[in-house]
Amino acid sequence: MVFRKDPCGITCLVITYGCVLYCDYCIIDHVILPTFSSSLWGAFHATMFNSFLFLLAYSHLKASFCDPGVVPLPYARLDFSDIQKAKKKKPRKAESEWGVCSKCEAYKPPRAHHCRICNRCIKKMDHHCPWINNCVGEQNQKFFILFLFYTGISSIYGLSLGVFSLFKRCHDCTDKYEIGTRIFHVVILLVVCSLFSLFVLCIMYDQIYSIYNDITLIEQVQKEERQNSKPKMALLMEIFGRGPKILWLLPCSNPRQTTHTTDYSV
Ligand SMILES: [Zn+2]
Ligand SMILES: [Zn+2]
Repeated sequence: MVFRKDPCGITCLVITYGCVLYCDYCIIDHVILPTFSSSLWGAFHATMFNSFLFLLAYSHLKASFCDPGVVPLPYARLDFSDIQKAKKKKPRKAESEWGVCSKCEAYKPPRAHHCRICNRCIKKMDHHCPWINNCVGEQNQKFFILFLFYTGISSIYGLSLGVFSLFKRCHDCTDKYEIGTRIFHVVILLVVCSLFSLFVLCIMYDQIYSIYNDITLIEQVQKEERQNSKPKMALLMEIFGRGPKILWLLPCSNPRQTTHTTDYSV
């Protein structure tokens, strides 16, 4: 289990769970109870919405606290001064070549990058995400994508219920004050859900582009050339595993931790 003491990341964690709890309160207290309490639809929507929130929170916790693929440090301190000098003359290393990280003072496998916030090299690092207060790397990318997916579904579901409730008569609201409070909370809910769904849609697009082109965000920024000859399904399986596709939707065990058992320590 990892926990980064990054103030920005911790603030983002508090904002994320604050928004999730507030949206749940709005949906139950100001959308479902006043609008659907007379039918079984109320219980159905409450169960469905909370199931999506549970999967969202579970994926988020896994993405936040799982090892993203930290490259182990060598037991003894290594001297890389000669390699560093030689590296300055060499323009670019081959795609499959191991590199050297001067900050970790260790060898790093191909496609590993050093993260300034985690202060370690991460295998197939995509980017450091403050919203999960962790790096997105080889071992937690599945959980990060599932977190985006369930945030997207919950936001769209919350938006639909919120809009529907605004046009329905409230069963229990008796005075103008109650109606005003309810509308106030529903409008805030709609704003939060709209922002989250737009935000998630943009990051999801980036993630799908990265997977299909087999190029991480950091490789795109550093303009590293990658030769991608793998079929799209094989690339998806690298992230989500080879098991039944229904398991792709569940934030359960990560295939990377079982199939990739290479010991990178030198
Ligand atoms: Zn490093
Ligand atoms: Zn990081």
